[in-house]
Amino acid sequence: MEHNVENAPGGGRQNSLPIVQELEYVSPIYAHTRVDLHGVTNACNSGKIPHCHGYANGDAKESGPGNGCIYRCCKIDPAGAGNSIYLFADERADGLNERHLQYLEPYGAVRRADCIGRCNPEAGDFKPADCRYYPHLPWLAEGDIIKFKTGIRAKCPMDNVIRLLHLAYVLKDMWQSLQREWDGNLHVLKVAHLAMVQYEDFDITPLGQLTLDSLTQMVKVENVRLLQREEMRINLEIPPEKRQERLGALARYRVDLEKVTLSRLKICERIFHAKVDFTKNGISLDELQRCFTS
Ligand code: SF4
Ligand code: SF4
Repeated sequence: MEHNVENAPGGGRQNSLPIVQELEYVSPIYAHTRVDLHGVTNACNSGKIPHCHGYANGDAKESGPGNGCIYRCCKIDPAGAGNSIYLFADERADGLNERHLQYLEPYGAVRRADCIGRCNPEAGDFKPADCRYYPHLPWLAEGDIIKFKTGIRAKCPMDNVIRLLHLAYVLKDMWQSLQREWDGNLHVLKVAHLAMVQYEDFDITPLGQLTLDSLTQMVKVENVRLLQREEMRINLEIPPEKRQERLGALARYRVDLEKVTLSRLKICERIFHAKVDFTKNGISLDELQRCFTS
């Protein structure tokens, strides 16, 4: 995912589209995934990152300057410049998504589109893989090693441990994409990243020093921090008559964080169990297969 417009970090609490809903705890941009949900909640399987709510809003206004991203990864210039994304070979390129995706010239035979609106879950739109994976951008390097770039910190304030957690979802979803369309999607992984900007290399070697327990502990600490920050925001920003409603949303936010965390940690368990060699700062296709077919 790349932006055609410059979005200054910490640049005020505004968005050109009604992406952040004042009283809700999630953005409405979490459109459906085309992957079969297999009975798990949409939150677990849609690429939704409930943690983003905390990062989008940042600290309470009264405790410092607005430092949230305000869902910058979906920010769209009202003057027309869109948010460029790539599409996997088998991603739907027609139908409902025509409302918010405008197709661009392909790059190296990889389809690309500008998002010029927003995907609307209520209308049945799907959220493209590039958006579901963000801030990560997986790519295929020499020797069939999947490596990762990640959105630059100036654009995406997501904490590193949540990036590691989200990586698990990306790996599993990417493997499923390859299963659906091996050659075409492998080509996308080789080429698409070359057209993307505002990313930096993402070092996954720290995963080699972690165990499932230590990662779980670190994620829990970050979840608590996000929940406490949300509570502080409610106390400082929300008028007393609306606080009860917002505290109800906070309770739902807690449940959502826990569900998604658990779902991602289950994937991490498989990855650790497969004894992936993280020292090469990537995951070979063979290892990927071992993680998700055993
Ligand atoms: S992915 Fe990053 S930029 Fe996008 S909403 Fe989440 S924290 Fe913000
Ligand atoms: S397709 Fe959806 S998730 Fe992607 S940039 Fe547009 S609004 Fe955001």
